[in-house]
Amino acid sequence: MAIDALTGLVRQIHDDLASLADGEVATYIPELAKADPEHFAIAIATVDGEVFSVGDADVAFTIQSMSKPFAYAAALDRLGRAAVLGRVGVEPTGDAFNAIVLDEVNNRPFNPMVNAGAIAVSALFPGDTAGARAEAMLAALSRFAGRPLAVDDAVFASESETGHRNRAIAWLMLNSGMLAAAPDLALDTYFRQCSVLVDTRDLAVMAATLAAGGVNPRTGERAVEAAHLPDVLTVMLTCGMYDYAGQWAWEVGLPAKSGVAGGVVAVVPGQFGIAAYSPRLDRIGNSVRAVAAIRRLSERLSLHGLAAR
Ligand code: GLU
Repeated sequence: MAIDALTGLVRQIHDDLASLADGEVATYIPELAKADPEHFAIAIATVDGEVFSVGDADVAFTIQSMSKPFAYAAALDRLGRAAVLGRVGVEPTGDAFNAIVLDEVNNRPFNPMVNAGAIAVSALFPGDTAGARAEAMLAALSRFAGRPLAVDDAVFASESETGHRNRAIAWLMLNSGMLAAAPDLALDTYFRQCSVLVDTRDLAVMAATLAAGGVNPRTGERAVEAAHLPDVLTVMLTCGMYDYAGQWAWEVGLPAKSGVAGGVVAVVPGQFGIAAYSPRLDRIGNSVRAVAAIRRLSERLSLHGLAAR
């Protein structure tokens, strides 16, 4: 779909939803509480490399859990499907994203979109030092964004100071032999990964890279082998939206991932990536405006991935 066909509709959705003021900014990581609750942006990036945005699209915020599909893609790319499946499953949990729980039957985290699975995936980045691992993580995410990304040090420090549940999860996985790196190193990579700064346009390009078969449509660089895309997109569709994942798949039908800073990315395979950002979250932890915006876009353009064509 050409970008011209989308711009009017995206502008209208942004205008219509700007008055939505439900929800609360996340405070459990103190740095996140500083976000301006009124910020609201929507961006679209096509598989041809065109980008359109409306609203506060240049405001930078941390990627948080939206990093998880991209880190998973990087792990699949580097190690292959079988090795990664040995560390993390693909089952939705029905538990909270930060639950201290493993799939006891298979002795591994349920899926890479919840914290346990994401920490296991972060452990798979190469490198023996925190610095080398951070570089590998940043290089992988930057390939999707098409520009060099960096970590917000204040958010990283805040994550690290308050991330005790994540520490509990990492040590539980150490106990079950599921962690490919020392827990402190895996957590350092995970906390930095959550603290990577992006804006809404970056996220749209990252999603468009998944939509475009793994090649960044702005730079032409391959970020992930096309063979791994079904694996990444499937866990996004089934597990990407916290405890709203089932209803999201039912209503919106697009592979997506949200993060507690207020962003949501969604992928329309073969067509475009969508990103929306607004910091007020609903009780499940998804941005109220971002969910509403992508849901409306999906309805208006009949984007549900399982709809009759
Ligand atoms: N850094 C966050 C945590 O692990 C990620 C949360 C999220 O965006 O879901 O608590």
